[in-house]
Amino acid sequence: MANDVENLIRSTVEGVRPLYVAYTHAMWESATTGAAGASKKEQEAQAALMRFWADPERHALAKRLDAAGAARDPIEARQLRLIYLSAAKAQQDEETIQKLTRLEAEVRQKYYNFRGKVGGEELSDNRLDEILAKSKNSAEVREAWEASKQVGAEVAEQVRELARVRNSAARAQGFRDHFQRSLALDEIDEAELFSLFESLEQATREPFRALKANLDRERARHFGIRASGLRPWNYGDRFFQAPPQMGEVNLDEIFAGKDPGVLAQSTYDGLGMDVRDILGRSDLYARPGKNQHAFCLDLDREGDIRTLNNLEPNHRWNQTLLHELGHAVYDKYVEATLPWLLRKPSHTLSTEAIALMMGALTFDQEWLVQVAGAPASEAERLSRAARERERAERLIFTRWCLVMTHFERALYEDPEGDLDNLWWGLVEKYQELRRPEGRRGPDWAAKYHVALAPVYYQNYELGHLVTAQLQDRIRKEAGGMVGRPEAGAWLREHVFRTGAREAWTRHVEAATGEPLNPQYFVRAVSGQ
Ligand SMILES: [Zn+2]
Repeated sequence: MANDVENLIRSTVEGVRPLYVAYTHAMWESATTGAAGASKKEQEAQAALMRFWADPERHALAKRLDAAGAARDPIEARQLRLIYLSAAKAQQDEETIQKLTRLEAEVRQKYYNFRGKVGGEELSDNRLDEILAKSKNSAEVREAWEASKQVGAEVAEQVRELARVRNSAARAQGFRDHFQRSLALDEIDEAELFSLFESLEQATREPFRALKANLDRERARHFGIRASGLRPWNYGDRFFQAPPQMGEVNLDEIFAGKDPGVLAQSTYDGLGMDVRDILGRSDLYARPGKNQHAFCLDLDREGDIRTLNNLEPNHRWNQTLLHELGHAVYDKYVEATLPWLLRKPSHTLSTEAIALMMGALTFDQEWLVQVAGAPASEAERLSRAARERERAERLIFTRWCLVMTHFERALYEDPEGDLDNLWWGLVEKYQELRRPEGRRGPDWAAKYHVALAPVYYQNYELGHLVTAQLQDRIRKEAGGMVGRPEAGAWLREHVFRTGAREAWTRHVEAATGEPLNPQYFVRAVSGQ
């Protein structure tokens, strides 16, 4: 039996490694160019990888050996478990693979090439965001917001079809639907997750209401309208997933004329982590046709790590670059001697936790002065505003994440349901926004993750909880992050080095000395 495990691991790595490398290169090519040929290649490479994992014999063997506890040591056991989970996620026939990859490629192409139209003019996402964030004209932001939703109507039917296809594969394996299958095979207990989210809903309700009441007053004043006239387009972004400009201090002013790449490099230098190689391979600035989001990709688990960004000299893009590089340093400092299957972060939520923690440095008083070069006389005022903004971000994101997670559960429960109406019901309930009168349309489908990163959003919220727990621990270890190589060394030793050797629950406990504890996050957002 022991030999069976060893053989299974060897044959899996031999098969999957070249397919993974081909896929990541095709994905990079497609995201950086938006070209139809590159998208076709990405689709084929993705299908090849899915086909590999779909092999029912590999799945059955991994499942049997894993259940029998056939591995000889923990390293082998974890590799075996990861093979089983990857194979189980991918159990589907050739027709399903073809359908899924074709639909995803079509939808991806539409998102990449979509530019919202206002009065016949095509606007990039960055331009729409700028109008939403800065304009004082309610009619103008309404137009920009409506333009940002146009992509929803273009992809909605395909997104429903994706949900049907994903569901039928999950049901053939005995799962309730794709939502349940995804969580279970991501080692997240659905009942625990929803009970945790329920407690977060309760813990954030009053602080969120107080914050939102303030925001409503500020937004009404900003637009020169009554608070009762505020609609979703008046909150500064497309989904109210982040706070609009708050108070008198505009954090963007600090970043004018400064290159986010330089600030990021000095941030990571201060932690004793070198990101020059990563930045050198990355694609940092906006271009037509290019993916307008941001991501980080480890192309081979041998050091070829890159990030895609669309940098602008403002707070948001500085935060985003630090975030993506957080993913990158985690990948970079995973112990290189680990077996290939374990040379990656413990879990998606673990790498999100690090990325969120690094992005949050843009709210840190020491960072604002020492790295961003804010004048010391301004430091107190700026850092107070930054702290308030960080707290607002966490509260607003939590309420938004409740919308996303509840929506996705309902989407997979019944893809034929009245999703347009359901979406606005959740937005009203958790984000406490007013549904625009007479609005009809699949606004849910304008959110990229619903279509192309399904059942992913919970990882961000869980990541936020882990971030707060890690921040507490690092404060005790090193007194903070900025300019403290000992904080970087602690992260490398306790969080990064072990890669995927341990499941995420155990990894959190091993790193911080206690299991996941949402109280660190709750305390931070309650302002205690
Ligand atoms: Zn991330």
